[in-house]
Amino acid sequence: MSDNAAPTTPSTTERPFEADVSRLLELMVHSLYSSREIFLRELISNASDALDKLRYLALTEPALVGAGGDLAVRIRANSQTATLTIEDNGIGMDAAELAQNLGTIARSGTRAFLDNLRNAKDQSGQIGQFGVGFYASFMVASRVEVLSRKAGSKDAHVWSSDGLGGYAIRPADAIETAAVARGTRVTLSLKEDAHSFLEAVEIERLVRAYSDHILFPVLLWAGKGEERQINRASALWARSKHELSATDYQEFYQQGLGHYDEPAATIHYRAEGRSEYAVLLFVPGAKPFNLYDANRKGHVRFYVRRVFISDEAELLPPYLRFIEGVIDSQDMPLNVSREMLQDRPEVAQIRKAVSNRVLSELATLAEKDAAAYLKVWEAFGAVLKEGLYEDPERRDQLLGLARFRSTTSGDGWRSLADYLASLKESQTAIFYATGETLEKLKASPQLEGFGARGVEVLLLADPIDSFWVTAALGFDGKPFRSVTKGEADLQAIPLEHPAANPEATATASDLARAIEQILKSAVTAVRLSRRLVESPVCLVAPEGGPDRELERLLTRQSQGVGLNPVLEINANHALVKAADAARSSGSTQRLEDLSWLLLDEARILEGGSPAEPAKFAERLNRLLLGD
Ligand code: ADP
Ligand code: MG
Repeated sequence: MSDNAAPTTPSTTERPFEADVSRLLELMVHSLYSSREIFLRELISNASDALDKLRYLALTEPALVGAGGDLAVRIRANSQTATLTIEDNGIGMDAAELAQNLGTIARSGTRAFLDNLRNAKDQSGQIGQFGVGFYASFMVASRVEVLSRKAGSKDAHVWSSDGLGGYAIRPADAIETAAVARGTRVTLSLKEDAHSFLEAVEIERLVRAYSDHILFPVLLWAGKGEERQINRASALWARSKHELSATDYQEFYQQGLGHYDEPAATIHYRAEGRSEYAVLLFVPGAKPFNLYDANRKGHVRFYVRRVFISDEAELLPPYLRFIEGVIDSQDMPLNVSREMLQDRPEVAQIRKAVSNRVLSELATLAEKDAAAYLKVWEAFGAVLKEGLYEDPERRDQLLGLARFRSTTSGDGWRSLADYLASLKESQTAIFYATGETLEKLKASPQLEGFGARGVEVLLLADPIDSFWVTAALGFDGKPFRSVTKGEADLQAIPLEHPAANPEATATASDLARAIEQILKSAVTAVRLSRRLVESPVCLVAPEGGPDRELERLLTRQSQGVGLNPVLEINANHALVKAADAARSSGSTQRLEDLSWLLLDEARILEGGSPAEPAKFAERLNRLLLGD
């Protein structure tokens, strides 16, 4: 604790900051100098949150707002003392909350922030996303005092710190207590080089730039008991689309939702009919850092007649969690409890209708501006695909939105409609291959026969793919078929390179039976392949079970069905012909060695390894030495 701390009274508690707070403060003060003006936005946003919280509580306890006047944020600069105060008449904090909220970092997001900050380029953007808010004060202040009185309490407390080692909390004296009827006053003693933040022009500029869309008035003290409102404080979503410009939306997206890019799409409408509500949603232009954080919330804020109710209501299904914005109900009761929100039929109805609308807006975007849509798909496609599995009701709609890489797409994207438009005559299925990466997939021997027939195969490399594609019944009447399962339905489709014709002969069928006999402990069957052109062998899954990739994923979770694979052999390949020669000349050992080696090669081609490395080496050696 610093030696020159303010004189203490017996009831003052002094505490060191939690280690992470100290780390954060150090980072802020030293590395974020250029973006320090955001401290004001952070303090105003806290004040606005506190007002939201109070208004919500007052829905059931109206007495709480009784004293304290209209809800507002007040800013006052005093150039004599070089102090700036930001005050709200919101919910306030008691002593324990002051210590908890301003002395520790409770939220996981802030920890993630700390870990990210060191490497980040756009550090102010990082602060916005993670909302480490309050501590930003120390970028401009050498001392911060927070006088707070919790709504409904007669006591106030003062938290203070120089942002170095720790903070102190003491009961407020009588004058201080009288000064806050309710809420919080943050007083910043500005550093020498931060005195420009005392100027009205500068304060107005910052409020317009960062806090114009706060729902409460921000009032600037103009002296002699006068104050004037310096923000717009209008609920943009409640206004008509025709009154608003692209800039208005852009500002709301940045200020109201804390983004630094441009939205990829904006959805603004008013639903009327059985239930009435306004919707203003954005598809972000870039992926939020915590898209895969299970605890991520707050992406859609729910209001009732402009009163903030909750940012934890599930207003959209998880696979639309990248959508951000506001939904404001006109007809729900204001005293709806947050906990019960999920069970209300109105909310279920809003959820359903808005989800449909979002999907149809995305479809419209795909149609009207394919390039813009592909950007959305590139950022959020993997998340949208979760819906293919989780939301069977909208699966067809989602399949229409899905874009894929395929054996013919190159670096482009293919829709299922594109795929169906280029079906080969007699092709009855949508073929796909699932695997870990596109590169591995492209090298799969199973694809050869499809390539030779000019049949497009979708390449699915997201982990979720194996699951939805098995659950989906098909698209536009065509079933999905894995290229690594069952017999390839290729016989009806003519080869484009007749030279590569892997047609079965009687002797080849005898060979398949002989190899099957040898390998029967390890394979379900051995058959002549229609899939193979270049490679001698490949493995496929038996009809009816999971395909090779799904089986691999399930085995990893110890849920594999454990069916032995089918070994397919390419009757045209020299190695297979060599095996056949061994068979007809009665070289039993050689046929056996070749059979097992072919199986191990098929495993290796899949990215696996020989089942018994020692035996593999033994057989290989025998063959190489021609024994
Ligand atoms: P965040 O706003 O993201 O939670 P902050 O660092 O800005 O993070 O604030 C930390 C916490 O301190 C807030 O969550 C809130 O509980 C409390 N707090 C800060 N400012 C105020 C205020 N003006 N009134 C009431 N509580 C506040
Ligand atoms: Mg904050």
